[in-house]
Amino acid sequence: MLRTIVTEGDPVLNKVCHPVTKFDEKLWILLDDMQETLAESNGVGLAAPQVGILRRVVLVINSQDEVLELINPTIIKTEGEQEGLEGCLSVPGKWGNVKRPMVVRVRAQDRNGNWFEVEDEELTARCFCHELDHLDGHLFVEHTDRLYTSEELDAMMEEDE
Ligand code: ZN
Repeated sequence: MLRTIVTEGDPVLNKVCHPVTKFDEKLWILLDDMQETLAESNGVGLAAPQVGILRRVVLVINSQDEVLELINPTIIKTEGEQEGLEGCLSVPGKWGNVKRPMVVRVRAQDRNGNWFEVEDEELTARCFCHELDHLDGHLFVEHTDRLYTSEELDAMMEEDE
């Protein structure tokens, strides 16, 4: 079932999410619904608070187009730095430059509660940081000096050509 994505200004996006303790059907329905909602929205990641659920659950689509389900995730290692444009399904129509680590390693549980680790770089590393930020009530707009609209970005691209 598609869930509604809440947008900036909704207090649910500024709250710290609770750990998942029960790996039951309710969690699996949430994960399935989040997958459907993410696919529909053409995003690369989605955190449970974005659909109004204060649980430590995120989805990230990696560069192989696989959907990673990360439950109770923590970042256990980072390397390097990258700066690039970031957007968010909860901040529609706005983008900003954000500095993130180039490589990020995450420890998380799967939908059955089994712990695993996953490491990735570039866009997927950026996505890990962005989505995990959501679990602590943070949005990318806190990490950027200014926000651009799609019209401004189009104009900048044209100047570059
Ligand atoms: Zn986001």
